[in-house]
Amino acid sequence: MTVGQLQELGLFEYTLKRSRRRKTVAIKVQQQNVTVYAPVGVAKKELESWLLSKTDWINAQINKQSQMLDTRQYPLQDNRVLVFSQPVKLVYGVSSRSAWQLVKKQQENVLQLNLSGRVKHQQPMYQTLLESFLHEQLENYIEMRVHAYCLKMAEALPSSIRIHTYKRRWGSCNRRRELTFNLLLVSAPQTIIDYVIVHELAHLKYLNHSAAFWQRVSEFYPDYKQATKWLKQHGASLQWVVE
Ligand SMILES: [Zn+2]
Repeated sequence: MTVGQLQELGLFEYTLKRSRRRKTVAIKVQQQNVTVYAPVGVAKKELESWLLSKTDWINAQINKQSQMLDTRQYPLQDNRVLVFSQPVKLVYGVSSRSAWQLVKKQQENVLQLNLSGRVKHQQPMYQTLLESFLHEQLENYIEMRVHAYCLKMAEALPSSIRIHTYKRRWGSCNRRRELTFNLLLVSAPQTIIDYVIVHELAHLKYLNHSAAFWQRVSEFYPDYKQATKWLKQHGASLQWVVE
């Protein structure tokens, strides 16, 4: 029997499973979880330098799988989503063309999701529409804050910013200065999103979690310990639809 142990390497986590019968090393990325299978004899250092050389491939697999997660089901009744920790009521309707509209009705934020009457499979289309709304909210906010923090940190802008749905990470950064952020962050308070932004921007200088890296984070986000605690406590329960 092999028992997996969660490891942290550079910028990603993986489960290491060693076996006496194995002759070769293999990586499996499934549902965004990285598992590494290795023979008992392979030294951890050797294994990790090989894994680091595969980082781009691993991230590409995780990104690909994040698209598949987006098909989660939403109950189509009157319910609410959290946008920057504020509740927004969802109202589903039909109109001449598919579009969303954010309005304020009696002190309440209401997101009107309208589908064209010609749409056949309505539920997945309402989901797509809701996601495009959430994506836009988060993207606008992150782009604005990335610009502001890059100025403060005297850092050149990242080469790209993408948003995906991830199970186990809030953001990522690689050697090509490409940043990604988890769409679920749209439900968190903006101060928490700011922390994730500073964290990823600090990786532009240090592609690791060294003391120097945390020093840079704390310089531009002094409350980072509180933010990481918040994400640990509430991160797992971040979801858009609240009853
Ligand atoms: Zn990090």
